[in-house]
Amino acid sequence: MTFMEKNIFAEIIAGKIPCDKVYETDTILAFYDINPKAKIHILIIPKKEYQTALEVNEENFAEFGELFLAAKNIAKKLGMTGYKLHMNVGEDGGQIVPHVHLHMLSPDYNAPL
Ligand code: AMP
Repeated sequence: MTFMEKNIFAEIIAGKIPCDKVYETDTILAFYDINPKAKIHILIIPKKEYQTALEVNEENFAEFGELFLAAKNIAKKLGMTGYKLHMNVGEDGGQIVPHVHLHMLSPDYNAPL
């Protein structure tokens, strides 16, 4: 499987493609995965365009940390007391969409993404 040529999540951020939004801040957007692998499957993305988490560094790590904060806030909003977080990093890590995203899944998720 190869990286998609078009960054579909950039188009979602730009409002050109609709999404089922769960949560939004100035820097983060979260929406339901179009092909859910668990009862609840949410994608949490930074609005800033990072292709993969391989781009994390000493200057920007707080921006990546915001993804975890968003997950906690979403769980509170949805009444989830526990959840699973998963990130595919890079093409060789199984990532398909070339825009950083954290998968947030309800605990019934039990298979590889
Ligand atoms: P990954 O393999 O980590 O890159 O995961 C990409 C995820 O994006 C998959 O779980 C897809 O189902 C999901 N996805 C692709 N296009 C959309 C879309 N337009 N809206 C919501 N989720 C999407």
